[in-house]
Amino acid sequence: MERARDPYELTRARMVEEQLARRAIADERVLAAMRKVPRHLFVEEALRDRAYGDHPLPIGEEQTISQPYIVALMTALLELAGTAKVLEIGTGSGYQTAVLAELARRVCSIERLPRLAERARALLEGLGYDNVWIRVGGGTLGWPDEAPFDRILVTAGGPAVPPPLFQQLAEGGRMVLPLGDEANQTLTVVDKVGGEMRTRTHGECKFVKLVGKYAWDA
Ligand code: SAH
Repeated sequence: MERARDPYELTRARMVEEQLARRAIADERVLAAMRKVPRHLFVEEALRDRAYGDHPLPIGEEQTISQPYIVALMTALLELAGTAKVLEIGTGSGYQTAVLAELARRVCSIERLPRLAERARALLEGLGYDNVWIRVGGGTLGWPDEAPFDRILVTAGGPAVPPPLFQQLAEGGRMVLPLGDEANQTLTVVDKVGGEMRTRTHGECKFVKLVGKYAWDA
């Protein structure tokens, strides 16, 4: 039986072309993943027609789904070749999780708010992702039982690299995270080379705050 046609397919292709490819997202695998993942299903029904716009959107509980360009940029910076085990902090809607799941061997994702975690888990399961594990908890402590991780992505803004996350990063691994104050951050790439931190920055961004130990108060 043929699958029902996705009414947003063209809108999504246009988003990839106009917002990502034209803004120098060159990793074809990232573009293909974002052409595939049905972003409109990760927002509430009333917001579906805006899901492919060039902006973040509210997902409830005062949180947001990131702007498509930011999702693409962070994913491209991770340089995923299909074999990585990835830790994500801040599942939120689960949209970024799905994009990671397209490009990684396995994704472990931690969300502190149970309602968001449950919704994301149900949605990703329904979409057939069987390489995603979602847990409710304080993500700044990482997921010790599953460490080490080849890649770590933090999708909420904190003041500094939480030490447990760097510890759980594999040698030669890479972490991407927004660092700064509560209002504005700098997208930061941290590589673990010989056990040491190598850091470079990658432009300004604006995320909801990372809450918990080594981060901000709720
Ligand atoms: N990548 C998500 C963005 C979600 S916004 C998406 O595409 O939808 C950031 C999320 O981080 C929020 O859901 C927030 O609840 C969560 N968060 C903040 N601090 C956290 C922490 N210490 N551990 C786990 N999740 C956290």
